[in-house]
Amino acid sequence: MSNLIDGKQIAKEIRAELKKEVDALREKTGKVPGLAVVLVGEDPASATYVRMKGKACEEAGFLSRTHRLSEDTSQRELLDLVKQLNEDDEIHGILVQLPLPDGLDEQEVLYTIDPEKDVDGFHPFNVGRLMTGDPSFVPCTPRGVIELLDRSGVEIKGKRAVVIGRSNIVGKPVALLLLQRHATVTICHSRTQDLPGVVREADIVVAAVGRPEMIKGDWIREGAVVIDVGVNRVGEKKLVGDVAFDEAKEAASLITPVPGGVGPMTIAMLLQNTLESFKNHE
Ligand code: NDP
Repeated sequence: MSNLIDGKQIAKEIRAELKKEVDALREKTGKVPGLAVVLVGEDPASATYVRMKGKACEEAGFLSRTHRLSEDTSQRELLDLVKQLNEDDEIHGILVQLPLPDGLDEQEVLYTIDPEKDVDGFHPFNVGRLMTGDPSFVPCTPRGVIELLDRSGVEIKGKRAVVIGRSNIVGKPVALLLLQRHATVTICHSRTQDLPGVVREADIVVAAVGRPEMIKGDWIREGAVVIDVGVNRVGEKKLVGDVAFDEAKEAASLITPVPGGVGPMTIAMLLQNTLESFKNHE
């Protein structure tokens, strides 16, 4: 039997479930959840992500609006757009695609988004609520990691989880979510000593480092579950994760591939957060 966690398939199922729910809500209320995505500049990777988000929104029956602003947009213009979206009753989720071009203050922009529409979960209000364990918008990739574990039948409670990476976007929120679910959590980073030894203790390994195939097969304890968040481009076309997949899959009881693991979950969770925002508002 395969020990692969098929994130592409799981995300597809979630999007189908969301579509069903949105269709029923449209029938009942005449309204649908709306997501506004703001893209500033011409970064090709950001443009691709934004296109994918818009397409997923439309397929699931959401209202999707993309605001494309030129590279030379001023901070004031961007803030004005965010404030306008904060007031827009058709919009329940606002996402400003990062990174912003040089010269724009990312933090001020993210802090201007109404926390009630902050479906990326990056506003300090939502970060604080995640810390205290109150209901909040949880950043999409970390939420996707937990959803993959849940839908694969992995028990989190009481398990030893090791998260490699401590960014605000992935590592820290994943660790908090695992803690909320009663795992015993260790967070590793670039100054961690004996990283292989720490990872070897884990029942659940979450890798969010951004270094191609850094986590070797012999770091993985027999039967551990491995979730690889890393996306690293190697050469022209090839994408690999942070885990040496071919080696690690021999020891792991379950493992996510790259691509096709965590990646597709991020957009599914964005839609989920937007639907939840819609329900809160209506
Ligand atoms: P960051 O660069 O912000 O953080 C990387 C973390 O890894 C840091 O905490 C850093 O430690 C740690 N680290 C770096 N080198 C080592 C090392 N040699 N040993 C141990 N720890 C190390 O990255 P992100 O969290 O934003 O992203 C991580 C990965 O996840 C990337 O590959 C990114 O592309 C991917 N990603 C995928 C998403 C998706 O699938 N949808 C979404 C977001 C990210 P320190 O803090 O000490 O510097």
